[in-house]
Amino acid sequence: MREFSYRSADSVDTALALLAEHNGSARFLAGGTNLVDLMKLDVARPTLLVNVSGLSLDEIAETDDGGIRIGATARNSDVAAHPLIRERYPAVAQAIVAGASGQLRNQATVGGNLLQRTRCVYFTDATKPCNKRDPGSGCPARDGEHHNLAILGASEQCIATNPSDFAVPLAAFDAVVRARNADGDHEIPLADFYRSPGDDPERDTTLPAGALITAVELPPSPLAPGSVYRKVRERASYAFAIGSIAAALDVHDDVVRDVRIALGAVAPMPWRAHAAERALVGRHATPETLRDAADAELAEAHPLRDNAYKIPLIRNLIVRTLTELTEAAS
Ligand SMILES: Cc1cc2nc3c(=O)[nH]c(=O)nc-3n(C[C@H](O)[C@H](O)[C@H](O)COP(=O)(O)OP(=O)(O)OC[C@H]3O[C@@H](n4cnc5c(N)ncnc54)[C@H](O)[C@@H]3O)c2cc1C
Ligand code: SF4
Repeated sequence: MREFSYRSADSVDTALALLAEHNGSARFLAGGTNLVDLMKLDVARPTLLVNVSGLSLDEIAETDDGGIRIGATARNSDVAAHPLIRERYPAVAQAIVAGASGQLRNQATVGGNLLQRTRCVYFTDATKPCNKRDPGSGCPARDGEHHNLAILGASEQCIATNPSDFAVPLAAFDAVVRARNADGDHEIPLADFYRSPGDDPERDTTLPAGALITAVELPPSPLAPGSVYRKVRERASYAFAIGSIAAALDVHDDVVRDVRIALGAVAPMPWRAHAAERALVGRHATPETLRDAADAELAEAHPLRDNAYKIPLIRNLIVRTLTELTEAAS
């Protein structure tokens, strides 16, 4: 591990000023469960770590409009256990609990979870080329190890998936990321927060330079209290998803009135399944309709040699989860 300096910030302004002093080579440190691993692997090389975990940004509270604001330094365990989250957004609590381990969730924070980097094996191996880590060096994953990489939304230059479980229900329910930098406060809809890799996959998000995430806000949603998160992984615990879904359904007399679907581990961003949602609203929730909706979403998929299994996996996950929600509603 390379030498670095360490400072603990006692206010948001101090944290922003410390970061700005180091001309892009400083990083905020929250729980450290991803950043410190990447430093040990020589993938991240900050010269200064600014600890933000002691800032008073860990409140979880109702907003004036009946939504929920989750402070950026709230620990993942505290978010998953909070009564407001469990009652109004159970898919969020389920997604967090489905990730990592108890010890990691006690340490990891909301902001850090959203900004954790891909688990593509070439990205985390500093001896290999990788366009995301070393722009222009190539993407060995295309012809190499890609069994858990993207089938949707990728580019020629990068096919990495976003690893966060937490971000998937946030995408389903139109969450907003709040951030601050020297230019002031920023409000970024989650739908715009994660970038398509395109020709420059090195930047994962649209977070402005030097910005600190201060909170994530979930708007009020009549559907969300009935929401679920389902995750498929290669072993029963302590593993990243190979496919996941956050979903909620309003069905009346077997007709879908409203639906939210987002998918995880299939794209560089949590993937909002707009095509599937459009295919369901106003239709009877039959097995055929659910399958057609899944196929509508997957029509744009571009699987590679070793990840085509994700197409039937995601189709089955959508059908099974929405069937479960339909049965629960009847
Ligand atoms: C073994 C293992 C298994 C895991 N399994 C899963 C899993 O199944 N599902 C899952 O979703 N996750 C999983 N994780 C990832 C884990 O959830 C993340 O490591 C964690 O959420 C990161 O949070 P952190 O607070 O520790 O972030 P840090 O490591 O401190 O920071 C991560 C990044 O975010 C930046 N950052 C942090 N906070 C802010 C902020 N407020 N504003 C701006 N930038 C900020 C940092 O500069 C850094 O670049 C796993 C991790 C490990 C080690
Ligand atoms: S998929 Fe992306 S992260 Fe993985 S090797 Fe290719 S460029 Fe790097």
